[in-house]
Amino acid sequence: MAGIYIHVPFCRQACRYCDFYFTVSLKYRDAYVDALLREMADRSGELNGERVSTVYLGGGTPSVLTGAHLGEIMVRVQELFHVDPEAEVTIEANPDDLDDHRLDMLCRTGFNRLSIGVQSFQPHHLELMRRSHRSEEAVDAIIRAAAKGFDNINMDLMYGLPGLTSAEWEHNVRNTMDLPVQHISAYHLTYEPGTVFDHWRRKGRIRELPEESGIAQYRMLRQTTAAHGFEHYEISNFSLPGYRSAHNSSYWSGTPYAGFGPSAHSYNGTVRRWNIASLQRYIESTVSGGSAFEMETLTATDRFHDYLITALRTKEGADLLWIRDQFGDAAAKLLREKAAPYTGTGEMKTEGGRLKMTPEGWLRSDLITQQLMLE
Ligand code: SF4
Repeated sequence: MAGIYIHVPFCRQACRYCDFYFTVSLKYRDAYVDALLREMADRSGELNGERVSTVYLGGGTPSVLTGAHLGEIMVRVQELFHVDPEAEVTIEANPDDLDDHRLDMLCRTGFNRLSIGVQSFQPHHLELMRRSHRSEEAVDAIIRAAAKGFDNINMDLMYGLPGLTSAEWEHNVRNTMDLPVQHISAYHLTYEPGTVFDHWRRKGRIRELPEESGIAQYRMLRQTTAAHGFEHYEISNFSLPGYRSAHNSSYWSGTPYAGFGPSAHSYNGTVRRWNIASLQRYIESTVSGGSAFEMETLTATDRFHDYLITALRTKEGADLLWIRDQFGDAAAKLLREKAAPYTGTGEMKTEGGRLKMTPEGWLRSDLITQQLMLE
């Protein structure tokens, strides 16, 4: 099985915390779609005819493309690749793009999963983040999407925002629980270099939330979602039974995927490649048959580290036997030794031949994973 990712690099406006690759000018949408169709055709052999079990349109904001654009893209995906009839086909959308007409169009075009960027139900935080939608629009969009038949809806939420109180966060999470969503992706705000938020923080215009408040918000989220039947199956992801994100799960399990569009990444088990993050260069080079990507062949150590980083983010953790088979006895033994201090603190555990990070360990996952690396 394989996955397809398509990066759509357009947004209506720039959110102040975001460091994804996007442009707020929509004027090159047609040229982008032409280049994308060409890139997919040129690289369609890369998946070796493997069955595609997930297609994911992310960005950026894919929902700013027209119905005609999306239709062309999805028809071409079906023509060029062996897409499983049961494939999970996701599109990321902002609430303000989801009127009834567009919801019908998305359904007709073959999308069976929506990922809606809500982030917060607090008007002052939506404004601070410079989101393009209002809180009521988000609620309305989700209810109407469900009424239109979408029964696999993810909602993005953000915590750890400047000044986010426990009462506000509780309101956000409880509001979410009242909505017909089957999946939640919840991220703690990070101040990415080059973003407006990072600049404002350094100037003292906004203040970082104290660490203990972020931790309390994470714990509250876990408790409330669990009480409503959601499984915390990955560090930032929660789902009702049967609604894990198949696309993201394939990243975490090392399934090959092909990424198209500027800045999109691809992986085939040994080689990682990434298109350059420039729409203009992407269009020019694709049209002229040139190359607008970089690539690297992974060493055994790279693959070991990639596996650890992704596997330890999941509830299932890392398979110690598989590590021994793939990377040798010494690597497996060293890993167990390095993990010992964290099993002692309850941040990691070994269970059924797998090394796992516990939900408390996930609070310090970057630091712990770093300590487990071979070098
Ligand atoms: S809509 Fe999404 S991709 Fe676009 S700027 Fe906002 S967070 Fe970034």
